[in-house]
Amino acid sequence: MDDLRCPRCGEEDELLGEPRDGTIVVTCEACATEWERDLTPRCPTCGTDDVRVAFQAIVEKSRGTQLSMSSVRRLYLCPTCDAEKLAVYQVSNRPLPPDELPTETDD
Ligand SMILES: [Zn+2]
Ligand SMILES: [Zn+2]
Repeated sequence: MDDLRCPRCGEEDELLGEPRDGTIVVTCEACATEWERDLTPRCPTCGTDDVRVAFQAIVEKSRGTQLSMSSVRRLYLCPTCDAEKLAVYQVSNRPLPPDELPTETDD
């Protein structure tokens, strides 16, 4: 899911990320270009950086049928593209259910 690539030669694999001064400096091992990684979260659909932080549950199936919430991950919701999800999240005030759970798909 990481579309990090060298802005000069387009290398995607031989990249070295290194935390420096509160940001991430990426070095391309193919052409030695260094650049600061843009850590601003953006909506992958419309590109806005006006996104909201939300948390989503990561659920592991334990023995039997019991589902246990093992942890949460951070994700960003776009007020435009993820409006529905964001509304649910803000009302429920708890982590969003994981994507893997069966949901209605009649859209
Ligand atoms: Zn490069
Ligand atoms: Zn969006």
